[in-house]
Amino acid sequence: MQLFESQEIKVYNSLTGKKEVFKPINNGHIGMYVCGPTVYSNVHLGNCRTFMSFDMIFRYFRHLGYKVRYVRNITDAGHLVDDAEDGEDKIAKKARLEKLEPMEVVQRYTVDFHNILEKFNFLPPSIEPTATGHIIEQIEIIKDILNKGFAYETNGSVYFDVAKFNKEYEYGKLSGRKLEDMIANTRDLAAQDDKHNPQDFALWKKAEPQHIMRWPSPWGDGFPGWHLECTAMSTKYLGETFDIHGGGMDLKFPHHECEIAQAEASNGKSPVNYWLHANMLTLNGRKMAKSTGNSILPGEIFSGENDILSKAFSPSMVRFFMMQAHYTSILDMSNEALLASEKGFTKLKEAINSLKTIPSEQATNFNIADWKSSCYAAMNDDFNTPILIAKLFDAVKHINLIKEGTETITENDRLELETTLHNFVFDVLGLENKSSSDADSEKLGGVVELLIELRKAARENKDFATSDRIRDQLADLGIQLKDGKEGTTYSL
Ligand code: AMP
Ligand code: ZN
Repeated sequence: MQLFESQEIKVYNSLTGKKEVFKPINNGHIGMYVCGPTVYSNVHLGNCRTFMSFDMIFRYFRHLGYKVRYVRNITDAGHLVDDAEDGEDKIAKKARLEKLEPMEVVQRYTVDFHNILEKFNFLPPSIEPTATGHIIEQIEIIKDILNKGFAYETNGSVYFDVAKFNKEYEYGKLSGRKLEDMIANTRDLAAQDDKHNPQDFALWKKAEPQHIMRWPSPWGDGFPGWHLECTAMSTKYLGETFDIHGGGMDLKFPHHECEIAQAEASNGKSPVNYWLHANMLTLNGRKMAKSTGNSILPGEIFSGENDILSKAFSPSMVRFFMMQAHYTSILDMSNEALLASEKGFTKLKEAINSLKTIPSEQATNFNIADWKSSCYAAMNDDFNTPILIAKLFDAVKHINLIKEGTETITENDRLELETTLHNFVFDVLGLENKSSSDADSEKLGGVVELLIELRKAARENKDFATSDRIRDQLADLGIQLKDGKEGTTYSL
């Protein structure tokens, strides 16, 4: 028997606005699609939070024994600047500014994305398709929508006819918007606009002569609209209706609303049973976003090279910090919050590491079975990681009391506790035990300070071979020395 057969998961479904019992279409199997990054710049920590929330969900399903097909795409075409309907493609713009081929931009930032996710200990998705690899599929869907009468072609571009769609289906059901209100709140179209109505959105855009990213189509050279790629790739790999679609809260409208409209218009079926939306990471109270400059890159946190934080934090520590908030809540990042989290994470790891050596006795003082089921109950309640972490700290409290001799545990219960903690901390939350404890960092700091002293002495003696060797070998180990007016400092 698989674990999932004994667990009932409830998820908050944005489509219905309710917490619902999760039932996959095929028993034991889950199809999950998550909108991936637009690879025109380095991922910031906010992007990572959304992907991490779904990595945790993927991990929990797998832990329960589900066979999950997790599709997370790479947006390498079609996403226009400012998420607008007109204007330049984000990747094409970057390529133009940096005098690169668009695919060089895509390659550079896809590699960066993968590197960062690996540092955070993400599991790779089952399929990671790209928009440019699915142009043919996108053109086929446009043809379908045109045939059904829910789109029109003007001047080499094809637009989705929202008003017509709304007569038979419901546009706005995911985001809770009404088409009439949208119409009342938008300005009239300019006379030269290709669209019939401001709410209509592009399925295919004509490429002007200077546009470098272009593909042939029945409507002339052009490129697909942003929303279409996700409909094409999710349908291709997960079917016309699948279990879960995820993404950041900011994608609900228009992106996900348009995905629903495209799918329903082309095949008449509602594409997704459960829509899950992850909330935003803010930095000092404001949404983290590359465009406003209010963002921090993961690499700047790991190295400590930034103006926001007082020290470097390991990827696993940042992951723990993120997991302390529910994925549907806003999480604000600040130096104080990270420092507080670090203390907790160190305590948790120390307790887990000490479990192997605690003595076993004839009896156990606390009910391990109840504790374990409360951990599952937390995760089953819409993946409530903050409650799960509170439960993990209940275990830490007992471990520390056992170490003090105030409580006891049997050998069987010790093993059960160890396995359960490992399952939740490392497999489900995806944390790692390898980063050093505070005490270890202090020792490392002492050693580096000693080497800085020896290097200084070597330089004073004009023994530059030795001083360079110390600097270079430390650099090879990932420890950078920086000489400044106040002396030499280092970063990991
Ligand atoms: P993009 O590369 O802009 O398409 O965004 C990739 C993902 O990151 C999307 O799911 C966004 O919703 C998400 N995202 C963007 N900014 C933030 C933020 N500040 N906090 C959490 N997720 C974000
Ligand atoms: Zn998408």
